[in-house]
Amino acid sequence: MAMIELRQLSKAYGAVTALSNLDLSVPEGCLYGLLGPNGAGKTTTLRILATLLAPDGGSVQVDGVDALKHPREVRRLLGYVAQEVAIDKILSGRELLQLQGDLYHLNRADRDHRIDDLIDRLGMEPWIDRRCGTYSGGMRRRLDLAAGLLHRPRLLVLDEPTVGLDIESRSAIWQLLNQLVEAGTSVLLSSHYLEEIEALADRMAIIDAGAVIAEGTPTDLKQRLGGDRVTLRVREFSDAKEAALVRSVLEPVEGVRQVVINRAQGFSLNLVIEGESVIERLRHSLEGAGLPVFALAQSRPSLDDVYLQATGRTLMDAELAIAGQRDIKQEKRQSMR
Ligand code: ATP
Repeated sequence: MAMIELRQLSKAYGAVTALSNLDLSVPEGCLYGLLGPNGAGKTTTLRILATLLAPDGGSVQVDGVDALKHPREVRRLLGYVAQEVAIDKILSGRELLQLQGDLYHLNRADRDHRIDDLIDRLGMEPWIDRRCGTYSGGMRRRLDLAAGLLHRPRLLVLDEPTVGLDIESRSAIWQLLNQLVEAGTSVLLSSHYLEEIEALADRMAIIDAGAVIAEGTPTDLKQRLGGDRVTLRVREFSDAKEAALVRSVLEPVEGVRQVVINRAQGFSLNLVIEGESVIERLRHSLEGAGLPVFALAQSRPSLDDVYLQATGRTLMDAELAIAGQRDIKQEKRQSMR
């Protein structure tokens, strides 16, 4: 049975469409990764699931319970670790966890046993009795994760849990997530880090512009692509014009299935190739057009390639485009002042 079933979910913030008929089915007992660039709709999806935000349309089922009709029941089932951590500065981490345990009406012995266990598993012992106001980002995130786990939820929902974290905090969180899944907890995690999804997820969905555009296990998604990947540069830093010229030379070559310009990587070119001797033919065509080969690397498909295939751009380019739109909006606002 599915732990989460989202059907035809839609949500707009004024003129901005955040979710557009999003469908998602998360099986019980696995770690499910939601991959997408900033602004894809991940936080909106997770907040709706955590019953903190109402969708404009669609249905939300958690463990067979209708979350829109029975939000309290669903809140008991899940733990939600938000992207922005808001914790009290005066209390110590331990006091904060005790308070959280009391809010869940845990009996004191059970509460303290559980807190000690989480302190141990998340490596929080050296600093848990210090005031939260002195914590680093990584410490706050670990504390927040512990707070989300205190009532032993069957489903843990995390919004980009390791953004900007130090390696130690990240590995403490990854390790705990793996242990939780082994013990039967279902985990849904959003991320825009390919390596995080690659390392943790049993299954995943790629979300872009408020809809799921690819779904499956990371291995299946990569295998479905077929072919090999080639990254090619005619010089260290090229420009848009030259990259377009190179693409026009490469596209007609036999065995080349796709050529995409990768702006984020100095206008290099990403190719999908299939068949024998394609590399030799590529080199030959470039030579014929008077173009040098500065660098050429061939590899098996990666998750970034899956993203590229589904959206026509790399994850990094999607983030650059979104950051660019934000800058333009900001400039407009400033010029109107
Ligand atoms: P990020 O990783 O940056 O949080 P995300 O994938 O979680 O991105 P959402 O936060 O769900 O994306 O945002 C989806 C879209 O909705 C974006 O275009 C965002 O700017 C917009 N949006 C989100 N919250 C609001 C809000 N409160 N008011 C207006 N627009 C919003």
